Amino acid sequence: MDKQSDQITDIFGRKHDYLRISLTDRCNLRCTYCMPEEGIALRPKKEFMTSEEVIQIASTFVELGVKKIRLTGGEPLLKKDFINILNQLSNLGVEISITTNGVLLHKFFDALLTAGVNNINISLDTLKQNQFNLLTRRDYFNIVYQNIEKAIELFDEIKLNIVLIKGKNDDEIKDFIELTKYKFLNIRFIEYMPFDGNKWRKDLTVTQQDIDTILSSEYGVSCLKLKDEAHSTSKNFKIENYIGSFGFINTITNPFCDSCNRIRLTADGKLKNCLFSSNEMNLLEPLRKGEEIKSLILKNILAKHQKHGGINSFEKDSHIYNKNRTMIAIGG
Ligand code: SAM
Ligand code: SF4
Repeated sequence: MDKQSDQITDIFGRKHDYLRISLTDRCNLRCTYCMPEEGIALRPKKEFMTSEEVIQIASTFVELGVKKIRLTGGEPLLKKDFINILNQLSNLGVEISITTNGVLLHKFFDALLTAGVNNINISLDTLKQNQFNLLTRRDYFNIVYQNIEKAIELFDEIKLNIVLIKGKNDDEIKDFIELTKYKFLNIRFIEYMPFDGNKWRKDLTVTQQDIDTILSSEYGVSCLKLKDEAHSTSKNFKIENYIGSFGFINTITNPFCDSCNRIRLTADGKLKNCLFSSNEMNLLEPLRKGEEIKSLILKNILAKHQKHGGINSFEKDSHIYNKNRTMIAIGG
């Protein structure tokens, strides 16, 4: 039995070996579903983890059995010391990956390849430049698209993250699937989720039924179900003879909580045992006082809710998710 990875286990027997670290709350885009229109309050730098603290906390998680670390944010590539953090993490002997909006990716291809990163998730919610400008409140479509094309050439595994929102980009599902005809890509359609300040409404989410209708009318029997990996959050498909694949992440309507192995560390050093949990464990403060943090980590994971951070109904329990952070300050 692998004793190490057994350490971070909750009362439901779920082993946690996947850590997502937010490197910064800052971002060069202003996606409407992630960043509140008024922005988020700037906080003093000393409230956030330094590069050394990121490495110290990440090393502790690895000692407890974490096998995979994903760097996220905000926009992780804006972290001043990103390359140094990446290099040090790559020495921990675990798989390192990154989720980025792609705006600055061209400046980091070499560093990512040198650090052995194979797996990059890039967010792109629309293939239309005008719509991109509306959704992100910034004008970077061309550079993001070019960087996606280059990344496909350079890395083994590129996933595109698309947050589906009714009336904004749900008319592009087929266009995205068609990208997989000639591009070796995994497209992931993500259900729109509620966080503080993002004006979520249930009727704006695209349901599995909406998707099934599109798949059966557009592709019929040539749409093939793929086997999903263990702990996969997405249900995956491919179109016969297309080289890429696509999947759906329906966190709310089709949750994957039963097999959840994820832990989140926010840029200000708080452990979140669930995306939707408003309870956080401060690891940075005790670390700075020289206290040990392993027991805090284990205690926090033990108390993890069985599902959705204790939210029973996203329509009725908005008082719970409104106590949660904005997505940009969690690290998706
Ligand atoms: N800036 C990077 C990016 O956009 O890829 C990393 C951070 S972002 C918070 C991580 C992922 O969360 C992105 O793929 C983004 O689309 C997704 N996301 C943000 N807000 C969301 C929401 N309300 N519902 C679903 N996914 C969301
Ligand atoms: Fe920035 Fe990513 Fe949030 Fe968009 S989704 S505002 S790119 S952190």
